[in-house]
Amino acid sequence: MKGVKMGKKVIVVGDPKSDGDCILYGFSAGWTRERMTFRLGNVLAAVRLPLMPDQENRITWRIKAPVRQRVHFRIGGKELYCASLSQPDRWEAVSFKVPPERSRGWTEVQLACDNFVLQSRTEACFALAEVVIEAEGEKWPELARPKADTTGMQLLFGDLHIHTRLSWCGGERNGTPEENLRFCKEVRHHDFAAVTDHAEHLVKDKTWEGLCKVLDSFNEEGKFVTIPAYEWTSDLYGHRNVYLAEPYERIFHCMDPTSSSPPKLWASLEEEGQNAITIPHHPIRREFPMRWDEHDPKWQPAVEMCSIWGSSEYYGNELQEIAYSEPGISVRDALTKGLRLGFVGGSDGHDRVPGTGGLTGAFVQEFSRRGILEAIRSRHCYATTGVPIRLYVILNNRLMMGDEWEINQYQFEGLYPL
Ligand SMILES: [Zn+2]
Ligand SMILES: [Zn+2]
Repeated sequence: MKGVKMGKKVIVVGDPKSDGDCILYGFSAGWTRERMTFRLGNVLAAVRLPLMPDQENRITWRIKAPVRQRVHFRIGGKELYCASLSQPDRWEAVSFKVPPERSRGWTEVQLACDNFVLQSRTEACFALAEVVIEAEGEKWPELARPKADTTGMQLLFGDLHIHTRLSWCGGERNGTPEENLRFCKEVRHHDFAAVTDHAEHLVKDKTWEGLCKVLDSFNEEGKFVTIPAYEWTSDLYGHRNVYLAEPYERIFHCMDPTSSSPPKLWASLEEEGQNAITIPHHPIRREFPMRWDEHDPKWQPAVEMCSIWGSSEYYGNELQEIAYSEPGISVRDALTKGLRLGFVGGSDGHDRVPGTGGLTGAFVQEFSRRGILEAIRSRHCYATTGVPIRLYVILNNRLMMGDEWEINQYQFEGLYPL
C-alpha cells in the first residue's frame, strides 16, 4: 500500500505497566497432581495482542526454554507457526506473519509446547519477554481500560515468597538472592519481592545480615521494593512467613523456645518493637496443617492463597493436590470461623523462576516497604496464580477491598429493603 507507514508496537509480556496491552493467562497455573502424575492443560499461555485489523501483522517474540523445546503458536485453535528452540536457556527471536483475515484487532494468541519440564514442582516450559508487532497503518487498536482508580492508590505486583540457595532445601538449584531478585525485576517486571528463606538457616554465620545487605542494594522506593522477610517453618503449627518493614537485626525460628509457637512468635516481635506481619501459607496441606486455632488479627492479617503448591481456597478445588490436603482447614473454612483475612499469592518456588504459581496485587499509598506492609495489613491486596490481573473493588468511591465499616440501617432505608 503506497503512502501507508509501517508501524511498530513493542509489548512487554506480563508487565502490568504496559497499560493492559497484553494479558497473560494460564502461563503456569492449572496443574493438579493426582496419583503422582502431573496433569497439565494444553494451553500454557495465551497472550492478547493488539493486531492491526485486516492487515498482515508480523510478530516477533523473545522466548527461551530450559531445554530444547518446540512451541506452537495458534490463533482460534489454528496453528500459525511452530518454533524449534535449539539452545537451552538462551533468549531467541521467533518471527512469523499473521495473515489479514486472522488479524482482528485485539487477538488472542495461544502458545503450547511439546516438552513439559517439571522443575521442583513448577512447570518451566518456556518464558516470554517482549513481543514486537509490525504492520502497515498508524491506528493501533485500543483497549477499553478500567476507569481511573479513585482511591488515589497505586496498584503494585510482587512475589512474596521466594526461596534462594540460603534455604538448604534445594540449595544451589534455588539460585542466589541476587539472581532471584533480578529475575523479578528485569524479567517479570514486578514492583516488589520478598525473599523468604527459612529462618533457622539464616541465623547461622551472619547469613541474615548478608541477605539484608543484598536486599538493601536492590531496594529502590518508587521503583522496585525488596521486603525483608523469612520463613517460620513449623510442621506443628503450620508455615508462616514473617515480613518486616525494616531489616531488623533479630529474627525468630520455631526451634527457639522463645518463638516456638505463633503466640510466642508474636510476643517476641512485639517485645522487639518490630513493624511486622506474619502470613500463613498452604494452610490446607496435611503434612503441616494450619488449624487456625492460633490467630491474632494484628499479626496475621492475610493468608497466602496460592503458590506452586496449588490453591488452598477450599477443599477439592481444581488447583489443589487433593491427596496431600486435609478437609476443614482451607481459607474458606477460616473465613467461616469468622477470621477476617486478606489474600496474597507467592510462588514458594525453589527454582529461580519467582512469580510462578502465585502473585500479590497490593494497593499502596506509598511505594515503599512500609507502604506494602500497610496495604497487606489493611487487606488492600489480592492473590492471583502468577498473572498480574488488575482488580478493583470500590464502593461509593470510598471503600475498597478489605475495608470494614458499620452499616447504619437508616442510611439505606427507602432505597433498598434490608
Ligand atoms: Zn513453607
Ligand atoms: Zn516457603
